[in-house]
Amino acid sequence: MAHYLLSAEAAFAAAHTLPGVEKCERMHGHNWRVRLTVRVEADVLDEGGMAVDFRVVEEAVRDAVSEFDHAYLNDLEPFGDCPPTAERLAVVVCERTSHRLASAAPAARIDAVEIWETPQYRVEYRP
Ligand SMILES: [Zn+2]
Repeated sequence: MAHYLLSAEAAFAAAHTLPGVEKCERMHGHNWRVRLTVRVEADVLDEGGMAVDFRVVEEAVRDAVSEFDHAYLNDLEPFGDCPPTAERLAVVVCERTSHRLASAAPAARIDAVEIWETPQYRVEYRP
């Protein structure tokens, strides 16, 4: 089915520790990058011909990661039970943005959340 995929990105700097993982078990930081991609069916454009305002997607992803910027991720509530890997970060961003998009852009569904831990290492989560 024809559809649109729209993306917006956010970035943050944060430290983490991954117990039991060689080298990563020492505290270290990354400049993380996050891309939220939403899917909107092609037949539900609004009167202005827009699927969803980019600003809505951007604000959703920015707000989802604002708590992470300049933080030690292991200390934050979402990572109390499980170390803050890129995979876990992607799930938390997905949960937070899906709540917000449900009210701000009901026609949009989350297609993917991508997290770059470094420019070379990326995780993509598809709910
Ligand atoms: Zn790391």
